[in-house]
Amino acid sequence: MTLVSVEEVRAFVLAACGPGPVVEVPLAEALGAVAAAEVRAPEPVPAFPNSAMDGFAVRAGDVAGGPTTLRVVGTQLAGPVVPVEVGPGEAVRIMTGAAVPPGADAVVMIERTAPSADGTSVVVEVPVEPGTAVRRAGDDLRAGDVVVTPGTLLTPGRLGVLANVGASSVAVHRRPRVGVLSTGDELVDAGAPLVPGQVRDSNRPTLLALVAASGFAPVDLGRVGDDEAAVTTAVRSAVERCDAVLTSGGVSMGDVDLVKVVLDRIGDMRWFQVAVKPAKPFAFGLVGGVPVFGLPGNPVSSMVSFELFARPALRRMAGFRDGDLDRPRVRAVADEHLRRRPDGKVHLVRVVTAWGADGRCRVRSAGGQGSHQLSAMAAADGLAVLSDGEGVGAGDEVEVLLLS
Ligand code: AMP
Ligand code: MG
Repeated sequence: MTLVSVEEVRAFVLAACGPGPVVEVPLAEALGAVAAAEVRAPEPVPAFPNSAMDGFAVRAGDVAGGPTTLRVVGTQLAGPVVPVEVGPGEAVRIMTGAAVPPGADAVVMIERTAPSADGTSVVVEVPVEPGTAVRRAGDDLRAGDVVVTPGTLLTPGRLGVLANVGASSVAVHRRPRVGVLSTGDELVDAGAPLVPGQVRDSNRPTLLALVAASGFAPVDLGRVGDDEAAVTTAVRSAVERCDAVLTSGGVSMGDVDLVKVVLDRIGDMRWFQVAVKPAKPFAFGLVGGVPVFGLPGNPVSSMVSFELFARPALRRMAGFRDGDLDRPRVRAVADEHLRRRPDGKVHLVRVVTAWGADGRCRVRSAGGQGSHQLSAMAAADGLAVLSDGEGVGAGDEVEVLLLS
């Protein structure tokens, strides 16, 4: 079977995964979701000119000549607007966020004033420019400004902006519900001692956590043995209640690699040997119209396969724009020799990144690079991309996919 490039497999997968249905959700449920529609500000923010300081609202022209005594004609707090104007020679006590009264064009901070004991007058000690400490209406957003575009990730700040423009709900793409199924007769959960030949099921908690950490809704589908009927039943029921399904194991060349057999029989699947290490075996296709990702069983491979193929496709289903599907890549400097042998594949080396005094990203190996050595993958925050060849030497530049 010929090796297929990561890019080709990625494109094949993405072509089958479109944005999910649009739902209107309360702001309180929208964190981490992706906006499905444009939102504009119906009115300016701030809605009225208001004070940036506690102090006195004045006419800048009145205090231009140095210390000036003004008559205090009222107080304006944040909240209801009181009927008061600032005439020549007058000032109004004002608090942060309070409406600037008509007639005033600047606010002098309280620290630069000396109010009289009875509060009827105030000495303004410094001149101020017109506009000082006044927040103009619309200087954050003007009426009609676009605050959210389709494909925008709803972060805490963006939810605040939506609240600012009076939105109580927002149209988002429904978060994909992503099922995770482990396969393998050798697998056991925590709780019982291992008997010889058994392996803890580490992929399922890892993949469920990757799904959750990516902002999708994880669905634990449990574990099935290497049994064609069991795998068939599990996948059939999974696609009924999930928007996408991740399986791990059973897609390589072994005698009981039944996942690919089953998926081939009940779905429209393609099975790949990807020109990458780790994460060479990979199956993808639709079962009942639902994308199913047949990830490899080796723990590091399943994580890398998730990063390369599943996460971008699931982000597309979640509504992210095509330019926002992948992890960022940076050019880094290898702090040590990152070795490999030519084999026709791209190698993704688990690395730890650090920012050098020169402001450049530097990387070193995170530890053992076997596809079963989950510890180094767990310690890594990047994957160094080593194209086919002998690797890169200490001090050489290397491309790094940032995992966090
Ligand atoms: P397979 O692709 O099913 O041949 O599995 C490849 C390797 O990954 C074998 O060593 C399996 O024991 C291991 N493996 C498969 N599934 C899991 C899992 N859920 N957790 C940990 N290791 C696994
Ligand atoms: Mg297996």
